Amino acid sequence: MFLKGKTALITGSTSGIGLAYAKAFAAEGANVVINGFGDAAAIETERAGLEAISGGKALYSGHDLTKVDQIEAMMAEAATAFGGVDILVNNAGVQHVAPVEEFPVDKWDLIIALNLNAAFHTTRLAIPHMKQAKWGRIIQTASAHSLVASPFKSAYVTAKHGLAGFTKTVALEVATFGITANCISPGYVWTPLVEGQIPDTMKARGMTREQVINDVLLAGQPTKEFVTAEQVAAIALFLCGDAASQITGSNLSVDGGWTAG
Ligand code: NAD
Repeated sequence: MFLKGKTALITGSTSGIGLAYAKAFAAEGANVVINGFGDAAAIETERAGLEAISGGKALYSGHDLTKVDQIEAMMAEAATAFGGVDILVNNAGVQHVAPVEEFPVDKWDLIIALNLNAAFHTTRLAIPHMKQAKWGRIIQTASAHSLVASPFKSAYVTAKHGLAGFTKTVALEVATFGITANCISPGYVWTPLVEGQIPDTMKARGMTREQVINDVLLAGQPTKEFVTAEQVAAIALFLCGDAASQITGSNLSVDGGWTAG
């Protein structure tokens, strides 16, 4: 339990990859702050389950991270409960698939606000405590789309490329404080986010569900397998250990070989 006494805040952790991070950190004894939307009873079950795993505390903060005042409120709640955040995982993200000339302006604004701007706000608010503690881990769930593009995902690709640049900048600024900042860049992980974009992709490309899965999603993934959320979470745990103290400003791909091609 090498994270006992540490606090991890994971944005967008009521589902998918975020929930896998929360479980992995809890299994190492960390207090966790989970965030995101969903059914209240299901979230409470997950929250209580995290406490059972860690033997520590788990706090649910349901703020909407597209809004700066709500991000500030979430970070304040974490500071009140735990004194600050030691491990910050910026994971909340949404997707929208449409040709650029038809891309809904409100969807563009939402994706930039959540997938990019929210990470700036949580990071700026987390760093003072990390600097004081002389230890911190900032981990972004970026994406293969932080390295390469795909058609019809202009806002997402823009946000993820921005997140990668932001992370490198932060890594340089905090390098002498025992704080590292890195991106983890998954290929396709089977989560509600991926499942949810299948209908729009079917429409945008005129394909069946099976064609989208095999010819679009897994087309670029040479292993022809989805990444699992647990595999992504295992990398985050590794980044928290001493062995990773010199890994900073990196963008770690877990994409079945997608971006090697
Ligand atoms: P998901 O849809 O399962 O989870 C998204 C989480 O974000 C949920 O907890 C949701 O409630 C939360 N959320 C949504 N809007 C929010 C808001 N306004 N404020 C706060 N929380 C909000 O998705 P996932 O696939 O687990 O994706 C998590 C991250 O991983 C995203 O950043 C995504 O871009 C990235 N990613 C996913 C894949 C993939 O294939 N699934 C691949 C690469 C990167």
